[in-house]
Amino acid sequence: MVDPTRRILIFGGTFDPPHRAHVELPALVAERLDCDRIIYIPAAQSPLKDDAPRSSEVHRVAMLELAIRDLPQAEISTIELDRGGTSYFIDTVTELGRELGHDAELCFLIGADQVLEFQRWKDWREILERVTPVVMLRPPWTRETFEDALRREYGDDEAAQWMAWLVDTPRRDISATDIRRRLARGEPVDDLLDPVVLGYLRTH
Ligand code: ATP
Repeated sequence: MVDPTRRILIFGGTFDPPHRAHVELPALVAERLDCDRIIYIPAAQSPLKDDAPRSSEVHRVAMLELAIRDLPQAEISTIELDRGGTSYFIDTVTELGRELGHDAELCFLIGADQVLEFQRWKDWREILERVTPVVMLRPPWTRETFEDALRREYGDDEAAQWMAWLVDTPRRDISATDIRRRLARGEPVDDLLDPVVLGYLRTH
C-alpha cells in the first residue's frame, strides 16, 4: 500500500480568481484519497488559453493564499510563475518529481473540461505515465454525457480508463470566467467566491 503521507495532490490552474470549487473539491478529494498535502500551482500562462490572465501574478497568488487559508494541508508552489512564459505541465511534473523525490505518488487534479482537451497538452501521454490524474466532474457534464464525450475523444478503452480516474465529488457549477463576467456587470457572486477573496478583489 502507498504510504498516505507520500501521496501528494497537485492542482494547476489560472485561479483568476480562485473560487469555491477550487477549494472545496480538492479538500474533499484529499480526504477521499488520503493525501495530506495539496499543492496549488498557479500557471504563468496557460498554453490553451488565448489571453493572459487578467489579474497579475501577485494578485492571483494573494487571492489563492486567502482562499486556502483554512486548508492546513494546502500550499502554493510558484514554480510555473518562477519559470515564466508558457506553463507546460510536463515541465512542472519534471521539476516537481525532482523536488519531491521519486517515492512520492503524485496525483494531479483536473476538471472534466480539461480532460476533454488533454490531447492538446504537450507530451500528454508522458504526463499520464508519470502522474495519476484525478478527475472532477464539472457542469455541463454529467457522468453519462462525459463518458460519451470521452469515447468520442479517446475511443472506448481510454475512455474507460478516464472514467476509472473520476472521483466522486459534487458537481459545482462555478467558473472563473462566469465570475469575471458577473463582476463586470455588477451581479452578485456571493455563492461562488469566498467573501474574503471578494473583498481583496474589490480592493485591488
Ligand atoms: P476559467 O473560467 O478562467 O477558464 P476555471 O474556473 O476553469 O477558469 P481554472 O483556474 O482554469 O478555473 O481551473 C483549474 C482547474 O480546476 C482545471 O482543471 C479546471 O477544470 C478545474 N475546475 C475549475 N472549476 C471547476 C469546477 N467548478 N468543478 C470542477 N473542476 C473545476
